[in-house]
Amino acid sequence: MRIAWENFERQTLDHLRALIRLDTTNPPGNERIAADYLARALSAERIEPVLIEPVPLRTSLVARLAGRDRSKAGLMLSSHTDVVPVEASRWTRAPFGADLADGCIWGRGAIDMKSKCAMDLMLMLALKRSGALGERDLILAAVADEEAGSELGARHLVEHHPELVKAGFVLNETGAFTLFIGERRFYPIQVAEKGFVTVKMTVTASPGHGSMPRSDTAIAWMADLVTRLTRTPMRRRVTPLIRMTLSELGMVPEKAPPLFRPMMANTVSPTIVRAGYKDNVIPGEATVILDGRTLPGEDEKSFLRELREIVGPEPILEIIKSAPPAEASFDTPLFRLIRARTEAADPGARAIPWMLPGATDSKFYTQLGATCYGFTPVRLDPKMPFGSLYHGNDERMPIEGLLWGLRLYVDVVLTFLGLQLEDVFE
Ligand SMILES: [Zn+2]
Repeated sequence: MRIAWENFERQTLDHLRALIRLDTTNPPGNERIAADYLARALSAERIEPVLIEPVPLRTSLVARLAGRDRSKAGLMLSSHTDVVPVEASRWTRAPFGADLADGCIWGRGAIDMKSKCAMDLMLMLALKRSGALGERDLILAAVADEEAGSELGARHLVEHHPELVKAGFVLNETGAFTLFIGERRFYPIQVAEKGFVTVKMTVTASPGHGSMPRSDTAIAWMADLVTRLTRTPMRRRVTPLIRMTLSELGMVPEKAPPLFRPMMANTVSPTIVRAGYKDNVIPGEATVILDGRTLPGEDEKSFLRELREIVGPEPILEIIKSAPPAEASFDTPLFRLIRARTEAADPGARAIPWMLPGATDSKFYTQLGATCYGFTPVRLDPKMPFGSLYHGNDERMPIEGLLWGLRLYVDVVLTFLGLQLEDVFE
């Protein structure tokens, strides 16, 4: 049975609003409510999902529609169901209310990334309902814990249940929303992302009495190191991908705007500083947490070497957590399809390969051999402050732009499965 496109659109928006109303703020996560919601919708269409819960309430869901040709690598549609915390008092509307106003759906997760979760769900349901059979498996993964490093979500699945999430290709966040540069429009498609190395740096010096000031204390030393770290840029390295991205934009690395700097170097940001326990005691120890980010081609070791050059040999450096960078080839049929359909959907715009300075679940799926792209298309108005709404106050998704993206997304996925829109929709 083919589905009316208008119903498909309406139900996608309904699912998005329902998902926003489920508070899956991480921490603590509580993704089970989202997994149960998705499981009910899938079971109603006789798709039986697998639920994985490494610790209570932290549930990820995976479902699969088998394709005709098992020799062809599967396509996985991936999203995470957790969201970052809100400062409710600074929102204009209820963060978990899913209000419709000013042409937008408002709420935490509207952009990052319950919108794609709703799109993936509806696409799966529509395909099943239509009875159309793709030539390769279509896998749906809606996972926990992305916003806290993926330990209980994608990373857990990759390490403990690889058979569920092994795919040839993955479509995940982040990419394909309109980027305005001068008079031109671009759609950055994520093909690479940086890794992270979170480091605890500790210095020690003799403690003392607060009434006897000294300049050689742990706090003074740490203050000096933090200043040095925030003022010393790490070594610039222009990867072929970034050179390509910049040339598509008509720029050269030397003159690229600040937005691109994190894509051309490892970076480090001090994020938590701790020292002292009593107002009249000079403490003997100071620590800082460093949020380090690594370019494709780098690893923990090369990052620590570079960090040492800035902070010197004495501070103790301990890695708290880390995950490698990832980079996929953009010389693939899927990338060419994404590019062609995106450019056709917004004539005059250009789709370009892109590196995300942050991290997504793609880095884990990459470890199972998948080619991962960030493709969550949304057409934006130039006035929409989209980038700042990621993890920001008043997160909201423009409905018209989302529906534009939905059509493009469905078109790309069905075409890659060897189907056409008419096989599934009327
Ligand atoms: Zn996200």
